[in-house]
Amino acid sequence: MIKTIVIGAGVMGASVAYRLAQAGAAVTVLEATRIGGGTSGISFAWTNANKKPPKTYHDLNIAGMKAHSALADEFGATPWRHDGGSLEWAAEPDRRAQAENIEQLRSWGYAAEWITRHQVEELEPDIDPATIGDAPVAFFPEEGWLDPVVYAHAMLSAAQRRYGAKVVCGARVVDLIMAGERVTGARVADGTQHEADIVVNCAGRWTNEATRDAGLHLPLAPTVGFLFFTPPVAASLSRVVRTNVIDARPDGAGRLMLHWNPTDAALSFEARLSPSMPEARDLVRRARQLLPSIGEVEPEAVRIAIRPIPGDHFSAVGPMPRTSGYYIAVTHSGVTMSPFLGAVVADEIIGGRQRSELAPFRPARFFN
Ligand SMILES: Cc1cc2nc3c(=O)[nH]c(=O)nc-3n(C[C@H](O)[C@H](O)[C@H](O)COP(=O)(O)OP(=O)(O)OC[C@H]3O[C@@H](n4cnc5c(N)ncnc54)[C@H](O)[C@@H]3O)c2cc1C
Repeated sequence: MIKTIVIGAGVMGASVAYRLAQAGAAVTVLEATRIGGGTSGISFAWTNANKKPPKTYHDLNIAGMKAHSALADEFGATPWRHDGGSLEWAAEPDRRAQAENIEQLRSWGYAAEWITRHQVEELEPDIDPATIGDAPVAFFPEEGWLDPVVYAHAMLSAAQRRYGAKVVCGARVVDLIMAGERVTGARVADGTQHEADIVVNCAGRWTNEATRDAGLHLPLAPTVGFLFFTPPVAASLSRVVRTNVIDARPDGAGRLMLHWNPTDAALSFEARLSPSMPEARDLVRRARQLLPSIGEVEPEAVRIAIRPIPGDHFSAVGPMPRTSGYYIAVTHSGVTMSPFLGAVVADEIIGGRQRSELAPFRPARFFN
């Protein structure tokens, strides 16, 4: 039986661990904090392949969406997944780019359609039509969003209960154990050593902290993202909407999750976070413009996370060069792609196959 260690229990580590265990590997997950305690727990978590050129990267995201939907057959209920599509409209200067994107998506067979005001009203009756104005509205019926922590927990519970995987929380990997050029395990902060035939690093933005060997560090280009939350509000928003005033989606129990790219650009990682910060109030004001029925509500929470983005912005999945026994799986859009990437990583490590879908996304491209 192949012995594997998975570093990290976000959506990536959970997906990889589940599929490795299912394929017959002995799996130990080493997680520094808690399941979903990293970026996965602070994510807009919109499942989509919407603006993801080139085609090879778009296809990886499509495969992720399909893998999410296929989990219904395997698990019966998938309470972490919310479909219903997404709506999009844009301010005047961005409408040409929006139309070009939709044309390209349709040429790739992606479900993308223009809908009427009446259809918008049927889908989202609480949206104020005045906010839309004369903007064309696009509908992407196969998109949705995920509760990433619920998903990660479900994958790891199944890995443990069905296939005997072990999940150790509070186990921060501080270095890899090497025998010459080969990785043979991982050393945890408390001094514990875990032996393995293969170590799979799914530590996201912290990937490079799991090894002191700078020659095994992946170039990263992380960006900061802020999410703002309302308390439970009287608005029946039931899908992802990306608009000229705010991006929003439901976040359970009537709460709304709000995101706005210009706010990400204006704030830094050092920003002092508080629900009463002006940016939070501005986003809630924008949400009220979209959904007047939420009323004079105050922001409830603000959260910050760093996106785990490899240096050229595309996924990095595969064996690390300059060594053996060491594999990494780091990506942005991991919420969308993780169930597919988990399956292909297991297929490569246990099945011994080379998956052609991953060919453009090998970590080796950074080391040539
Ligand atoms: C604001 C924002 C919006 C986003 N929106 C979307 C979206 O709409 N759609 C989408 O698909 N994606 C989105 N993403 C990206 C997506 O959330 C990430 O790609 C995904 O969560 C990455 O998952 P992961 O498992 O790789 O990383 P993480 O969730 O960060 O998991 C890594 C885990 O490793 C653990 N760890 C770290 N160091 C160590 C160590 N040394 N030893 C052991 N464990 C360690 C951490 O505690 C953590 O639990 C968004 C991200 C952000 C920040």
